[in-house]
Parts: sequence; structure tokens; C-alpha cells
Amino acid sequence: MSSDDCIFCKIVTGQIPATKIYEDEVILAFLDIGPVSDGHTLVVSRKHFERLHDCPEQFLGQISSSLGKIAKAVASAMDSDGYNVLCNNGKAAGQLVDHLHFHIIPRNTGDGLFDRWPAYKYEQGKIDEIAAKIRENL
Ligand code: AMP
Ligand code: ZN
Repeated sequence: MSSDDCIFCKIVTGQIPATKIYEDEVILAFLDIGPVSDGHTLVVSRKHFERLHDCPEQFLGQISSSLGKIAKAVASAMDSDGYNVLCNNGKAAGQLVDHLHFHIIPRNTGDGLFDRWPAYKYEQGKIDEIAAKIRENL
């Protein structure tokens, strides 16, 4: 998807309305129109990058430094017990909008969101094999 067809670019430029809560020269934060809990917020880069690893380190650092402050405000305003920060990358991971964004999702004890975490155990030796492969790619 090019930035011309991108819904979040259109929000950044004001072509599409959004319920904004914070903006600065690098990011824009607004409420998700399809929330999974009250206060579900999206923090988007002003510049169009598709995925996390497409974003230059300098911007990523600036985005990260604002995430905590926005998450704190969202959680306090919603009086939530906790929150998730989620960044979907790629269709397989559930990314619907191909413009880098972070979900801040207020959580309350027993709310049942993301209850199924399909954890399993590695077979003997596999954990070291996988770690080596990842190191080779860094
Ligand atoms: P993702 O699956 O990580 O790409 O999430 C995209 C999110 O964008 C979804 O949670 C949508 O509800 C949200 N969304 C899509 N269009 C809009 C919009 N115009 N304003 C606010 N949120 C939006
Ligand atoms: Zn975009």
C-alpha cells in the first residue's frame, strides 16, 4: 500500500477525521474506532513506514519515548489495572493498516481479552538452534 491510499496518512494530514489525544512532530495518537476496550488508542508515526523495521532508529527512538507517557495517561484516564502495547507487523500478524502504529489497550483484571496464549515447550536443542539463526540475522 502506498502512502496515497493509506488511511493513517489521511488522518495525519487531516483528510479524514480522528479523535486525537496527542500530537507532536513525530507521532499522532488517536482513539481506535474499533476498540477492544474503552480508551484503546493508536499511536502512529507521522511518516509512512509499513513495518517496525522500516522505521529508522532515530524515529523509533522518538516514538518509543512518547509511548510510555501516552500509555500512562490512557491507563490513568480509564482507571485500568494494566495495559498492552501491541504492534502488528504483516498480514500474518494481524496488521490491517500498513502504516506503523502501536495499540495501547487498557486492561482490567478478568476482562478476558487475549486469554489464549498458546505457549509450548521447545524440543531438546531447538532453542539454541533458533537463537543462533536469529543472531546470524542481526
Ligand atoms: P492493525 O490490525 O494493527 O493494523 O490495526 C488497525 C486498527 O486501526 C484497527 O484496530 C482499526 O479499528 C483501526 N482503524 C482503522 N481505521 C480507523 C480510523 N479511521 N480511525 C481510527 N481507527 C481506525
Ligand atoms: Zn501511511
